[in-house]
Amino acid sequence: MKTEIVQGWPQGHEIRILITDTDAAQVNAIRRALIADVPKLAITRVDFSQGVTQDNKGEVVESVNVLPDEVLAHRLAMIPIPTNMDEGLVFPDACENCKDVVEKDKGCPMCQVLYTLSARGPSADSDEELRTVYAGDITTISDPVFDIRDEHKTIPLTVLSKGQFLEFYAFAVLGRGRDHAKWSPVAAVGFRPQQVAVLKDAKAAETLFGLGLTTTDGTPIDAKLFGKGKKVTDINHVMDLEKALHQVGHGTGREADFAESIVMETVDNAYVFSYETDGSLDPVTAFNMALDELAGRFDTIKEQLDGALA
Ligand SMILES: [Zn+2]
Repeated sequence: MKTEIVQGWPQGHEIRILITDTDAAQVNAIRRALIADVPKLAITRVDFSQGVTQDNKGEVVESVNVLPDEVLAHRLAMIPIPTNMDEGLVFPDACENCKDVVEKDKGCPMCQVLYTLSARGPSADSDEELRTVYAGDITTISDPVFDIRDEHKTIPLTVLSKGQFLEFYAFAVLGRGRDHAKWSPVAAVGFRPQQVAVLKDAKAAETLFGLGLTTTDGTPIDAKLFGKGKKVTDINHVMDLEKALHQVGHGTGREADFAESIVMETVDNAYVFSYETDGSLDPVTAFNMALDELAGRFDTIKEQLDGALA
């Protein structure tokens, strides 16, 4: 199996990878490893402060807001937490310090990242009626490398009215998507056979070319795109063409004129694999971690087989 990042990617957290010399089962194993096995950090416990308190101006605030604590905890769990495995964090059940202690005492700097938030609604004399609390209001108590990324700071958590406050400690730990979706680092993971577009009849293909469509990088979809070889092999262009072909396909009224003058040919044993991460990991790291997870699993399979057949 060979892998190669498609030219022009990653874009943000999205990536396309060409995997050759492989079959669908192998590529699917990578897909499943990305979704379910690659670890990431997610908030898994929240301790809310509850009750009624008075601030130094004598204003009374109460720990209520529009969302129940459970819903808020769920929203917190979904915030992408920057995950860097080089920081030496360990899984809670593998932590030397916490292995043998009772459930309620589990958690130490080795196996969890600590956050806090303290916010209150507008003061009694304010013109504002409401204040929105964002992910950006969360403060990291652990190492600043775990600070919520700027791009995620605008995620709204809840809304506070006058006389309301929100205060909590939140604990993020490493986990895997197979245990809960909050630990799944990727979305929209899919793959398709690699294809090549072949121009069979330049004249009939004018039905498509005449529509003035362009690829995502702005190249006009016309005979020039196919070049002398009458083929498009660039993966991004082929995928754009595939979409463009819907404009001349079945039900468009143009299919008779177009007459399948451009056909897609499948490349054997080659797949274009695409996905995006939630931002907790960069897509290249996530891919390498998926391969490591798979390699680790197959390392032990031989011993297991030896054991089973003995
Ligand atoms: Zn620990």
